Order: sequence, then C-alpha cells, then structure tokens
Amino acid sequence: MIGKEEKHRIKKCPLCGGEMHDGVTAAPFFIGEKIIVIKDVPAELCSDCGEAYMKSSVVDKIEALLDKLDDLDSEMSVIHYKAA
Ligand SMILES: [Zn+2]
Repeated sequence: MIGKEEKHRIKKCPLCGGEMHDGVTAAPFFIGEKIIVIKDVPAELCSDCGEAYMKSSVVDKIEALLDKLDDLDSEMSVIHYKAA
C-alpha cells in the first residue's frame, strides 16, 4: 500500500521538531503605542516547546480585526477572537 494520509499527517515544530496539536493561544499585537491582546486564537501548538503557529486564514481575520480596533483610544485592549 502506497499512500500518505494528507489529512492527518502530523506537523512538526520548525523550532524543535516536536509534534504540533490544534489548540488556542493568546496573541499580543503591538501597533504604534497600542497593545492589543487577542485571546482564544485558534493555532497549532507545539507539545514540546509551546510555540504557537496561526494559520493564514486566522491571520487574515486578525488583521481585519486590528484594522477595526485602530479607531479605539484605549492603549491596551484584550479581546476574544470568537467575538470578532
Ligand atoms: Zn517546538
């Protein structure tokens, strides 16, 4: 039998080679003087070193979110990804 399971292939962490698992993380963004922390961001997390990697679709959504938040006067905001 030849064939790779594309759907369920295990991703390796580029930093340490550990296994990556789906999870959520909190991602801080620094825009000028502002700090925006987005919680519950879907990401792949390394089970060994804890490094988090966001998918490009997630990054796109966050960028749209940060554009909207640019109007806020608050210097620090904490928001939930799912509320966006
Ligand atoms: Zn790692």
